[in-house]
Amino acid sequence: FPVIRAQSSQEYTPEAKFYKIEAILRPWRVPHVSLGLLKMGIRGVTVSDVRGFGAQGGSTERQAGSEFSEDKFVAKVKMEIVVSRDQVDAVIDKIIEEARTGEIGDGKIFLIPVSDVIRVRTGERGEMAERMTGGLSDILSSAVSN
Ligand code: ATP
Ligand code: GLN
Repeated sequence: FPVIRAQSSQEYTPEAKFYKIEAILRPWRVPHVSLGLLKMGIRGVTVSDVRGFGAQGGSTERQAGSEFSEDKFVAKVKMEIVVSRDQVDAVIDKIIEEARTGEIGDGKIFLIPVSDVIRVRTGERGEMAERMTGGLSDILSSAVSN
């Protein structure tokens, strides 16, 4: 089974401190993706049930069995993950690793610059708001200091 990584692109435009990774994925792959992200220290994820069509067109999800879309839209899950710039590539590669089957309909990932992050509970902004206790940056910094 070949390991597929996103082709490298360190230059995101427009340049921002934070990016939202928006991934449209097969619903039945989402538990694998979220577990993979959790294991790497990603704690903040938002998911929604969505419907759409791309190259997969009107063909229904083979794996989903019962699903029948009269209107040609296929059920997908949208995962939204906001991370600091230095975590973008690792998250994208993990999503590909856990979501990919190699068949048409695996989905697509959009990268969106985010101007700021504000934590409602504390009013913190920026890095203070985006970082989570026990999150990826915590894991990485404790690995360095230990
Ligand atoms: P607190 O420390 O006050 O609990 P928090 O920053 O950990 O705040 P939550 O209040 O737990 O954030 O998050 C609320 C919701 O916001 C989550 O259920 C999730 O849907 C979404 N969310 C939080 N952080 C992110 C993120 N980095 N990316 C995407 N969604 C996020
Ligand atoms: N970048 C954050 C951290 O390292 C995690 C962000 C997220 O979980 N979406 O704590």
